[in-house]
Amino acid sequence: MGERILAVRGLKTHYYIGGRVIKAVDGLDFDLERGETLGIVGESGCGKSTAALSVMGLISLRAGRVVGGQVLFKGKSLLALPGEEMRRIRGSEMSMIFQEPMTSLNPVLTIGRQVSEVFMVHKGMSRREALDEAVKILSQVGIPAPGQMIREYPHRLSGGMRQRAMIAMAIACGPDVLIADEPTSELDVTVQDQVLRLLRELKERIGMAMVLITHDLGVVAETVQNVLVMYAGRAVEYSDVSGLFNEPMHPYTKGLIASVPGLGKAGEKLGGIKGEPPSPLDLPGGCRFHPRCEHAREICRIHEPELVRVGDGRLCACHLYNDW
Ligand code: SF4
Repeated sequence: MGERILAVRGLKTHYYIGGRVIKAVDGLDFDLERGETLGIVGESGCGKSTAALSVMGLISLRAGRVVGGQVLFKGKSLLALPGEEMRRIRGSEMSMIFQEPMTSLNPVLTIGRQVSEVFMVHKGMSRREALDEAVKILSQVGIPAPGQMIREYPHRLSGGMRQRAMIAMAIACGPDVLIADEPTSELDVTVQDQVLRLLRELKERIGMAMVLITHDLGVVAETVQNVLVMYAGRAVEYSDVSGLFNEPMHPYTKGLIASVPGLGKAGEKLGGIKGEPPSPLDLPGGCRFHPRCEHAREICRIHEPELVRVGDGRLCACHLYNDW
């Protein structure tokens, strides 16, 4: 086992809307080792992006609050840190890239100004030194003519180039952990491939650990080592990537894989999962997946299954994982 760099324990994050509580993340546990790539997958609304924002200390941007659990980064409890210390860690030791870079890039500042600010804030460089570093890092992420690009505004760049600029800002200080939240879902397929390849190369070069959040199991199959499957705010399965695709243990994981052409076992019919994910305002009792599960029995409607070790470092939250 490698060095554990991030440990999330019993994380609970709630949003408050119209006097009602949305339990977006409801008792999440996972670990990340130095240099590992962990995929977090699940349907929209399962809590994966909320989990990422909670780890980064950014949840207050979304009218919510972390109400329980712990986030330990290199043994330090992030949820207990003063805002200033968390801001220092965010952007230098941990960073994040988002689905749509336009929401993170400032439209009225040049790319050069925005990238160089990372070096000024976190490395104490002068404007001139920081601009030189900005040109170098833009070149490293494959932006052509970076000396000219630093004078451009975000709207003048293609989606793929904007994402590269965001990646440049995120890796500028050589973070230990990069969280990438659906980093390619707004891009067309060829650009998607380029960005994923770039992330894999950078991860190797910098030696950082990466959490890749996606609903795209094809991206997971190509990019990550281990996978956490989330459903209705909780983890339902954790496995290495080949174990997950060759022998999924949770009925939800099995349904997700069966719904993607080319990912299921040879000769297996393309399937899917019946019904819709539950509303976080009205979660079912017992196993949260039971209204959609074809294997559900009486116990599933009454008792919520724990995430338990099921061999070979794998975890599964299903009463009947051995029995269906
Ligand atoms: Fe299906 Fe029951 Fe397992 Fe839930 S606990 S996934 S309902 S078999």
